Amino acid sequence: MNKPKIRTILLGCLAANPGLTVLLAVSIVSSIVLELLPPLLLGHAIDILTDNVMLIAGLCFGYFGLSAAAGVCRAAREALVTAVGGKMTHALRSAMSRKLSRLPAGEFVTGTSGSIAARFTSDADAFEEMFSSGIVSLLTDLGTVVGMTVVIFTKSPGLGMILIVVLPLLFLFTRRIQKAMLSAHEQNRRAIAKVTGFLPETVSNIRTIHVFNSERFAEKRYDKVISESYAAIEKTNFYDAIYSPVILSTSAAVIGVMMTLAGRQGLFLELFGITVGTAVTVISYVGKIFSPLESIGMEIQTIQSAAAGIRRIREYLALPEREVPAESPAEAAYKEKPQMTGAVPAGQKGPVISLRDVSFSYDGKTPVLSHFSMMVEKGERVVLRGRTGAGKSTVFGLVLGLYTPTSGSVTLAGRNPAALKPEEKRQLYGCVEQSFHPVMGTFRDQITLGDNGISDSQCSRALAVVGLSPLAAHLDEPFAPERLSHGQHQLLAIARAIVTNPPILLLDEITSGLDSATEKTVMEALRRAASGRTVLSVSHRALAGSGERVVFVGSAETEMAPGTAVE
Ligand code: ATP
Ligand code: MG
Repeated sequence: MNKPKIRTILLGCLAANPGLTVLLAVSIVSSIVLELLPPLLLGHAIDILTDNVMLIAGLCFGYFGLSAAAGVCRAAREALVTAVGGKMTHALRSAMSRKLSRLPAGEFVTGTSGSIAARFTSDADAFEEMFSSGIVSLLTDLGTVVGMTVVIFTKSPGLGMILIVVLPLLFLFTRRIQKAMLSAHEQNRRAIAKVTGFLPETVSNIRTIHVFNSERFAEKRYDKVISESYAAIEKTNFYDAIYSPVILSTSAAVIGVMMTLAGRQGLFLELFGITVGTAVTVISYVGKIFSPLESIGMEIQTIQSAAAGIRRIREYLALPEREVPAESPAEAAYKEKPQMTGAVPAGQKGPVISLRDVSFSYDGKTPVLSHFSMMVEKGERVVLRGRTGAGKSTVFGLVLGLYTPTSGSVTLAGRNPAALKPEEKRQLYGCVEQSFHPVMGTFRDQITLGDNGISDSQCSRALAVVGLSPLAAHLDEPFAPERLSHGQHQLLAIARAIVTNPPILLLDEITSGLDSATEKTVMEALRRAASGRTVLSVSHRALAGSGERVVFVGSAETEMAPGTAVE
């Protein structure tokens, strides 16, 4: 399967919402144009007035109308940006979530699951922020600055040239101030974190401080961190205080220079000579041009900080995926008529579970299983034994298709377990792990795992088998773990495993951590649940009298003769 690319996902999302995309583009362009028009109209009106012509009412209405339209357009753009940004982030999160189901199980046990969660939360949020407060605003602000410069150029080439020199210098100055402010803010955050950590530490150590007479020492340390915070705040105040005056003085100076030169004769008149109306337009532009310039700096900042999150999302989407080998024609034929309730598929020949000459390693270096073979025939009970860390749970992972063997082959009901479709899995096997993993929702959801195809009577039957019949009356109630004991959780896990009446049960040390009385109840429930099924388990307990066969995993990899009873 092709790994998803961020660009493809986002373009796909824009293509899927053509109306919104076009509206957003129109609103960006209109915001820029509407920002430029009112000063032009104002200039025109003043020229008319200075020519002693009566001001036409339409011009006045036009000016106010355009100003109002600019506001409406800005609001519409904000709304559209939020809508499109939300849709894009949704598309991105959906692609990430599809990716999640294609990741190999190993990805979640090597300590990266926390960082994967961060991809879905902070990194995806950073993307949304970048779109709504970064890219679109940047485009609008750049368009406004360029548009204003072009208009000023056509009205007064001399002023245009001054601006072309001044604007980049002011932009560099703005970025410098913004960077310095950001680093001062960070410094302050670090100092505040120290202060907040320092207070509870001092209070909890107050006895020691008194006993050892170290009040002065504590005071000095507190003084130090609080001074760091103070110094950082001072710095931000300083930059804040100098920024606005510099910008305001510069724009005043630009206007002053322009006006002075406009009054001169000769070349200056050609370059700077303007009507009163144009002067008003140009002054209005100069007053307005610095605000988008400042925003551009902040937008670049937002895009830069989001870029790291987007890079992490890109890396996540590029993670290697589980290999799902193409299925054989026999498998495809089998899939077409899944009739597996209660028994291993009719017509299936050979062992129900087979591992042939399987070698496996998690990290590609340390072998966990080497040339391990094991067959479980239909209706058999097989128990895996071996010292801790021998690889028993690993065998389960292989049988469940979570891991792919380095060499050798693993089949479940004659098929490659990794190639099973999600909906087929529960029809084929039920799996109970060492501890119960609840899902959000009702008691029913704990059993059905959200599968609406499972009826209430199936749930009740499964609960009856494990001796939890009273729960059947509470299926619609929210799941409350405190209402069940540890053992009852395991019984619920067994009910979850057998509710679809699968022909195969896989049980990994399900009674570990239970006291002996509870263990007896669980084993009893298990005996009932195991009846008529093929069972592969890891257990130190035998299902007494059930004719189990023991398979050793690890150094004593010797398979005992079928039918060898334990105990
Ligand atoms: P126990 O009886 O303690 O449950 P086990 O026989 O089930 O042990 P496994 O969990 O299969 O043992 O582990 C076999 C070996 O593989 C161990 O050495 C373990 O450290 C290693 N191992 C298990 N899971 C992983 C993993 N996700 N990544 C890397 N190594 C792993
Ligand atoms: Mg284990």
